[in-house]
Amino acid sequence: MLVDVLGVDIAVLSLAEAVSMIEEFVAQGVPRRVVTANPELLYRACRDIELRELINSADLVTADGEGIVWAAGFLGTPVPQRVTGIDLLQSLLPKADLLRWRIFFLGAAPGVAAEALAQVSREYPGIIPASHHGFFRPGEEEEEVLEGIRRFRPHLLLVGLGAPRQERWIFAHCRELGVPVSIGVGGSFDVLSGRVKRAPLWVRRLRLEWLARLLRQPSRWKRQTALPKFAAKILQQKFTQNPRKN
Ligand code: UDP
Repeated sequence: MLVDVLGVDIAVLSLAEAVSMIEEFVAQGVPRRVVTANPELLYRACRDIELRELINSADLVTADGEGIVWAAGFLGTPVPQRVTGIDLLQSLLPKADLLRWRIFFLGAAPGVAAEALAQVSREYPGIIPASHHGFFRPGEEEEEVLEGIRRFRPHLLLVGLGAPRQERWIFAHCRELGVPVSIGVGGSFDVLSGRVKRAPLWVRRLRLEWLARLLRQPSRWKRQTALPKFAAKILQQKFTQNPRKN
């Protein structure tokens, strides 16, 4: 089942269901894209048709962010829970370990993705890891990155270049790369490497992770000004049922 949030079709499923779906995608082996959609991304997409179509053409779009969970419920089709990039990533690791998946981390500052993978490999030695940082230049350098991924032939490509760049990047390259599943995971490598701490579980249970992130990284306030605008658009959608028109 799907719920239309500002013209984007969000999957109504739990984390466990999303993980099973992705495991199935990996087993099938045809290139698939997963978007973890947060309110900032959807607010942007409601003013950028190309971005919206790119997201809607993904194989799975999950509700990343309390704002999306609230919006889905408010619009009458509740989603069971948040399904974020890092939650998906961490939940896929046990299976990846068991089946000896090849996993490629692309993104974050030099050294961070490699450090994140080293942490992961310590806990899940069955995984075959490779990584590249996310500050490559278009042209020759990007070609080398693409060639590296192609040669490695990952089962799973996690792309943490920040939204919406990672979604555009995956869209542009997933076919030629032939990777079964590519997922945009934002700042997950910063968290997995231990450079950025996630809010404690009790804060997440109170649905206040966004506030904790804002307090820790005040530079994010500018992005978060999209949140009230997102909420206003949701009200507009609820009461006019016409969110695609501006
Ligand atoms: N990043 C990158 N290349 C760039 C710009 C950013 O790899 O050219 C990385 C950045 O280091 C960080 C991630 O992209 O690890 C974006 O993190 P953020 O927390 O902003 O992600 P989001 O909130 O969009 O999920």
